[in-house]
Amino acid sequence: MRKIIKILILGGIHEAKRLAAELTTLPKVEIVYSLAGKTLNPNIPDCKIRTGGFGGENGLSSYIKNLKFDLVIDATHPFATQIASNAYISCKKTNTTYIKLCRKPWKPGIITWQSAKNFEDAKKKLMRMGSRVFLTSGTKGIQNFILLENKWFLIRLIEWPSSLPSLENFEIILDRGPFGHLKELELLENHRINTIVTKNSGGIFPAKLEASHKLGIPILMIEQPAPPRGTLLYSLEETINWLNKRFNLNHTID
Ligand code: NAP
Repeated sequence: MRKIIKILILGGIHEAKRLAAELTTLPKVEIVYSLAGKTLNPNIPDCKIRTGGFGGENGLSSYIKNLKFDLVIDATHPFATQIASNAYISCKKTNTTYIKLCRKPWKPGIITWQSAKNFEDAKKKLMRMGSRVFLTSGTKGIQNFILLENKWFLIRLIEWPSSLPSLENFEIILDRGPFGHLKELELLENHRINTIVTKNSGGIFPAKLEASHKLGIPILMIEQPAPPRGTLLYSLEETINWLNKRFNLNHTID
Protein backbone atom coordinates (compact mmCIF):
# COMPACT_ATOMS: atom_id res chain seq x y z
CA MET A 1 0.00 0.00 0.00
CA ARG A 2 1.37 3.45 -0.94
CA LYS A 3 2.09 5.72 1.98
CA ILE A 4 0.47 9.12 2.43
CA ILE A 5 2.39 11.90 0.64
CA LYS A 6 2.80 14.85 2.99
CA ILE A 7 3.08 18.24 1.27
CA LEU A 8 3.76 21.63 2.81
CA ILE A 9 2.49 24.45 0.60
CA LEU A 10 3.84 27.89 1.43
CA GLY A 11 0.97 30.04 0.25
CA GLY A 12 1.09 33.61 -0.96
CA ILE A 13 -0.13 33.81 -4.56
CA HIS A 14 -3.64 32.88 -5.64
CA GLU A 15 -2.27 29.97 -7.72
CA ALA A 16 -1.23 28.40 -4.38
CA LYS A 17 -4.83 28.21 -3.27
CA ARG A 18 -5.85 26.61 -6.59
CA LEU A 19 -3.05 24.08 -6.25
CA ALA A 20 -4.10 23.20 -2.69
CA ALA A 21 -7.71 22.82 -3.84
CA GLU A 22 -6.57 20.34 -6.55
CA LEU A 23 -4.35 18.33 -4.23
CA THR A 24 -6.82 18.04 -1.36
CA THR A 25 -9.11 16.01 -3.63
CA LEU A 26 -6.48 13.23 -3.79
CA PRO A 27 -6.92 10.40 -1.28
CA LYS A 28 -3.22 9.68 -0.68
CA VAL A 29 -2.11 13.28 -0.29
CA GLU A 30 -2.06 15.29 2.94
CA ILE A 31 -1.63 19.05 2.63
CA VAL A 32 -0.62 21.64 5.17
CA TYR A 33 -1.08 25.16 3.81
CA SER A 34 1.04 27.82 5.45
CA LEU A 35 0.38 31.55 5.54
CA ALA A 36 2.57 34.34 6.88
CA GLY A 37 -0.46 35.77 8.70
CA LYS A 38 0.22 39.32 7.54
CA THR A 39 -3.06 39.81 5.66
CA LEU A 40 -6.42 40.09 7.40
CA ASN A 41 -9.09 37.85 5.84
CA PRO A 42 -6.73 36.07 3.44
CA ASN A 43 -8.05 33.77 0.72
CA ILE A 44 -7.61 30.29 2.15
CA PRO A 45 -8.20 26.86 0.64
CA ASP A 46 -10.31 24.18 2.28
CA CYS A 47 -7.48 22.18 3.89
CA LYS A 48 -5.30 22.13 7.01
CA ILE A 49 -4.00 25.68 7.57
CA ARG A 50 -1.18 26.97 9.74
CA THR A 51 -0.46 30.66 10.18
CA GLY A 52 2.60 32.74 11.11
CA GLY A 53 6.35 32.63 10.58
CA PHE A 54 8.35 29.51 11.45
CA GLY A 55 11.09 31.45 13.21
CA GLY A 56 13.58 31.71 10.36
CA GLU A 57 15.30 29.01 8.40
CA ASN A 58 16.09 26.90 11.49
CA GLY A 59 12.45 26.98 12.58
CA LEU A 60 11.29 25.95 9.12
CA SER A 61 13.87 23.14 8.97
CA SER A 62 12.62 21.77 12.33
CA TYR A 63 9.00 22.06 11.22
CA ILE A 64 9.69 20.14 7.98
CA LYS A 65 11.69 17.48 9.83
CA ASN A 66 9.28 17.04 12.74
CA LEU A 67 6.20 16.74 10.55
CA LYS A 68 8.08 14.51 8.06
CA PHE A 69 7.04 16.27 4.86
CA ASP A 70 7.87 14.53 1.58
CA LEU A 71 7.68 17.75 -0.42
CA VAL A 72 7.68 21.51 0.11
CA ILE A 73 6.03 23.67 -2.53
CA ASP A 74 7.02 27.29 -2.30
CA ALA A 75 4.06 29.14 -3.78
CA THR A 76 4.81 32.51 -2.22
CA HIS A 77 4.94 35.81 -4.09
CA PRO A 78 7.95 36.37 -6.42
CA PHE A 79 9.03 39.30 -4.22
CA ALA A 80 8.87 37.26 -0.97
CA THR A 81 12.58 36.51 -1.09
CA GLN A 82 13.21 35.69 2.58
CA ILE A 83 10.76 32.80 2.82
CA ALA A 84 11.86 31.57 -0.63
CA SER A 85 15.47 31.37 0.48
CA ASN A 86 14.53 29.80 3.84
CA ALA A 87 12.43 27.16 2.10
CA TYR A 88 15.16 26.25 -0.38
CA ILE A 89 17.87 25.97 2.30
CA SER A 90 15.61 24.10 4.76
CA CYS A 91 14.78 21.50 2.11
CA LYS A 92 18.47 21.04 1.30
CA LYS A 93 19.29 20.63 5.00
CA THR A 94 16.47 18.18 5.72
CA ASN A 95 16.85 16.31 2.43
CA THR A 96 13.26 17.13 1.48
CA THR A 97 12.10 17.55 -2.12
CA TYR A 98 11.56 21.21 -3.01
CA ILE A 99 9.78 22.91 -5.89
CA LYS A 100 8.79 26.53 -6.47
CA LEU A 101 5.63 27.59 -8.22
CA CYS A 102 6.79 30.76 -9.96
CA ARG A 103 5.10 33.45 -11.97
CA LYS A 104 6.57 34.43 -15.33
CA PRO A 105 7.31 38.14 -15.23
CA TRP A 106 5.40 40.33 -17.69
CA LYS A 107 7.34 41.22 -20.83
CA PRO A 108 7.09 44.61 -22.50
CA GLY A 109 5.23 44.53 -25.83
CA ILE A 110 2.79 47.18 -27.01
CA ILE A 111 2.90 48.39 -23.44
CA THR A 112 6.47 49.32 -22.56
CA TRP A 113 8.16 50.51 -19.39
CA GLN A 114 11.38 51.54 -17.78
CA SER A 115 12.80 48.70 -15.67
CA ALA A 116 14.38 49.04 -12.25
CA LYS A 117 16.58 46.26 -10.82
CA ASN A 118 15.24 46.72 -7.29
CA PHE A 119 13.63 49.31 -4.98
CA GLU A 120 16.83 51.32 -4.59
CA ASP A 121 17.28 51.53 -8.35
CA ALA A 122 13.61 52.49 -8.73
CA LYS A 123 14.05 55.31 -6.22
CA LYS A 124 16.94 56.73 -8.27
CA LYS A 125 15.04 56.44 -11.54
CA LEU A 126 11.89 57.94 -10.07
CA MET A 127 13.80 61.14 -9.23
CA ARG A 128 13.91 61.86 -12.97
CA MET A 129 10.25 61.06 -13.62
CA GLY A 130 6.87 62.77 -13.09
CA SER A 131 5.78 64.39 -9.83
CA ARG A 132 2.36 62.75 -9.31
CA VAL A 133 3.04 59.08 -8.74
CA PHE A 134 0.68 56.13 -8.47
CA LEU A 135 2.57 53.70 -6.21
CA THR A 136 1.45 50.07 -6.10
CA SER A 137 4.63 48.36 -4.96
CA GLY A 138 3.24 47.13 -1.62
CA THR A 139 3.86 48.15 2.00
CA LYS A 140 7.52 47.12 2.01
CA GLY A 141 8.52 49.57 -0.69
CA ILE A 142 6.77 52.71 0.54
CA GLN A 143 9.58 54.02 2.73
CA ASN A 144 11.92 53.94 -0.28
CA PHE A 145 9.87 56.48 -2.13
CA ILE A 146 7.94 58.88 0.08
CA LEU A 147 11.04 60.66 1.36
CA LEU A 148 11.79 61.83 -2.21
CA GLU A 149 11.41 65.57 -2.62
CA ASN A 150 8.96 67.23 -5.03
CA LYS A 151 6.78 64.14 -5.45
CA TRP A 152 3.22 63.39 -4.48
CA PHE A 153 2.06 59.76 -4.13
CA LEU A 154 -1.22 57.99 -4.47
CA ILE A 155 -0.53 54.68 -2.69
CA ARG A 156 -2.86 51.72 -3.12
CA LEU A 157 -2.62 48.96 -0.52
CA ILE A 158 -4.71 46.04 0.72
CA GLU A 159 -4.19 46.99 4.36
CA TRP A 160 -3.10 50.02 6.30
CA PRO A 161 0.71 49.91 6.82
CA SER A 162 1.96 49.55 10.41
CA SER A 163 4.26 52.57 10.41
CA LEU A 164 4.61 55.56 8.14
CA PRO A 165 6.32 58.92 8.56
CA SER A 166 3.85 61.77 9.08
CA LEU A 167 4.30 63.51 5.74
CA GLU A 168 1.75 65.29 3.62
CA ASN A 169 2.99 64.11 0.25
CA PHE A 170 0.82 61.02 -0.04
CA GLU A 171 -2.69 59.69 0.06
CA ILE A 172 -3.45 56.05 0.79
CA ILE A 173 -6.35 54.15 -0.69
CA LEU A 174 -7.22 50.68 0.57
CA ASP A 175 -8.58 48.32 -2.05
CA ARG A 176 -8.14 44.74 -3.21
CA GLY A 177 -7.99 43.77 -6.91
CA PRO A 178 -8.66 42.68 -9.50
CA PHE A 179 -9.48 46.16 -10.80
CA GLY A 180 -11.37 46.96 -13.99
CA HIS A 181 -10.03 49.06 -16.87
CA LEU A 182 -12.59 51.90 -16.50
CA LYS A 183 -12.06 52.20 -12.75
CA GLU A 184 -8.29 52.41 -13.28
CA LEU A 185 -8.63 55.07 -15.99
CA GLU A 186 -10.87 57.11 -13.70
CA LEU A 187 -8.46 56.80 -10.77
CA LEU A 188 -5.44 57.91 -12.82
CA GLU A 189 -7.30 60.83 -14.38
CA ASN A 190 -8.96 62.03 -11.17
CA HIS A 191 -5.62 62.17 -9.37
CA ARG A 192 -3.75 63.66 -12.35
CA ILE A 193 -1.19 60.85 -12.18
CA ASN A 194 1.84 61.22 -14.46
CA THR A 195 4.01 58.26 -13.34
CA ILE A 196 3.26 54.69 -12.23
CA VAL A 197 5.58 52.62 -10.05
CA THR A 198 4.80 48.95 -9.74
CA LYS A 199 6.38 45.52 -9.27
CA ASN A 200 6.63 42.91 -12.01
CA SER A 201 4.57 40.40 -10.05
CA GLY A 202 3.55 38.32 -13.09
CA GLY A 203 0.20 36.58 -13.35
CA ILE A 204 -2.81 38.32 -14.90
CA PHE A 205 -1.70 41.51 -16.66
CA PRO A 206 -3.12 44.38 -14.59
CA ALA A 207 -5.64 46.89 -15.92
CA LYS A 208 -3.68 49.78 -14.36
CA LEU A 209 -0.89 49.23 -16.91
CA GLU A 210 -3.30 49.14 -19.83
CA ALA A 211 -4.97 52.28 -18.49
CA SER A 212 -1.64 54.08 -18.05
CA HIS A 213 -0.60 53.09 -21.59
CA LYS A 214 -3.88 54.51 -22.92
CA LEU A 215 -3.27 57.78 -21.07
CA GLY A 216 0.41 57.91 -22.09
CA ILE A 217 1.62 57.70 -18.48
CA PRO A 218 5.21 56.37 -18.10
CA ILE A 219 5.59 53.15 -16.09
CA LEU A 220 8.50 52.32 -13.81
CA MET A 221 8.64 48.54 -13.31
CA ILE A 222 10.56 46.96 -10.44
CA GLU A 223 11.69 43.64 -11.90
CA GLN A 224 11.44 40.30 -10.08
CA PRO A 225 14.39 39.19 -7.96
CA ALA A 226 16.02 35.94 -9.07
CA PRO A 227 14.30 32.86 -7.61
CA PRO A 228 16.24 30.15 -5.73
CA ARG A 229 18.11 27.54 -7.80
CA GLY A 230 15.77 24.59 -7.20
CA THR A 231 13.08 23.12 -9.46
CA LEU A 232 11.06 26.04 -10.83
CA LEU A 233 7.60 25.48 -12.33
CA TYR A 234 5.61 28.21 -14.02
CA SER A 235 1.94 27.17 -13.94
CA LEU A 236 -0.54 25.04 -12.05
CA GLU A 237 -0.59 22.60 -14.98
CA GLU A 238 3.21 22.26 -15.01
CA THR A 239 3.17 21.68 -11.26
CA ILE A 240 0.48 18.98 -11.44
CA ASN A 241 2.42 17.27 -14.28
CA TRP A 242 5.57 17.33 -12.17
CA LEU A 243 3.68 15.86 -9.17
CA ASN A 244 2.10 13.16 -11.35
CA LYS A 245 5.52 12.03 -12.57
CA ARG A 246 7.23 12.26 -9.20
CA PHE A 247 4.51 10.55 -7.13
CA ASN A 248 2.53 8.57 -9.76
CA LEU A 249 -0.60 10.57 -8.94
CA ASN A 250 -2.35 10.40 -12.31
CA HIS A 251 -4.30 13.58 -11.52
CA THR A 252 -5.90 15.79 -14.18
CA ILE A 253 -7.26 19.29 -13.73
CA ASP A 254 -10.96 19.60 -14.64
P1 NAP B 1 9.28 37.51 3.07
O1 NAP B 1 10.00 38.80 3.32
O2 NAP B 1 9.90 36.55 2.15
O3 NAP B 1 9.02 36.76 4.44
C1 NAP B 1 9.14 37.37 5.70
C2 NAP B 1 8.83 36.33 6.75
O4 NAP B 1 7.43 36.05 6.76
C3 NAP B 1 9.49 34.99 6.50
O5 NAP B 1 10.84 34.99 6.89
C4 NAP B 1 8.61 34.07 7.30
O6 NAP B 1 8.85 34.22 8.68
C5 NAP B 1 7.23 34.67 7.06
N1 NAP B 1 6.51 34.05 5.94
C6 NAP B 1 6.42 34.49 4.66
N2 NAP B 1 5.61 33.69 3.94
C7 NAP B 1 5.19 32.72 4.79
C8 NAP B 1 4.32 31.61 4.63
N3 NAP B 1 3.71 31.33 3.48
N4 NAP B 1 4.12 30.83 5.73
C9 NAP B 1 4.72 31.11 6.92
N5 NAP B 1 5.52 32.16 7.12
C10 NAP B 1 5.77 32.95 6.06
O7 NAP B 1 7.80 37.78 2.57
P2 NAP B 1 6.96 39.14 2.45
O8 NAP B 1 7.39 39.85 1.24
O9 NAP B 1 6.98 39.81 3.79
O10 NAP B 1 5.51 38.52 2.21
C11 NAP B 1 4.81 37.88 3.26
C12 NAP B 1 3.76 36.98 2.62
O11 NAP B 1 2.92 37.77 1.80
C13 NAP B 1 4.38 35.90 1.74
O12 NAP B 1 3.78 34.68 2.02
C14 NAP B 1 4.09 36.36 0.35
O13 NAP B 1 3.86 35.30 -0.54
C15 NAP B 1 2.86 37.22 0.50
N6 NAP B 1 2.82 38.32 -0.48
C16 NAP B 1 3.92 39.11 -0.64
C17 NAP B 1 3.92 40.10 -1.59
C18 NAP B 1 5.13 40.96 -1.82
O14 NAP B 1 5.09 41.81 -2.72
N7 NAP B 1 6.21 40.81 -1.06
C19 NAP B 1 2.78 40.30 -2.38
C20 NAP B 1 1.67 39.48 -2.20
C21 NAP B 1 1.71 38.48 -1.24
P3 NAP B 1 9.86 33.25 9.47
O15 NAP B 1 11.23 33.62 9.01
O16 NAP B 1 9.59 33.54 10.90
O17 NAP B 1 9.51 31.85 9.07
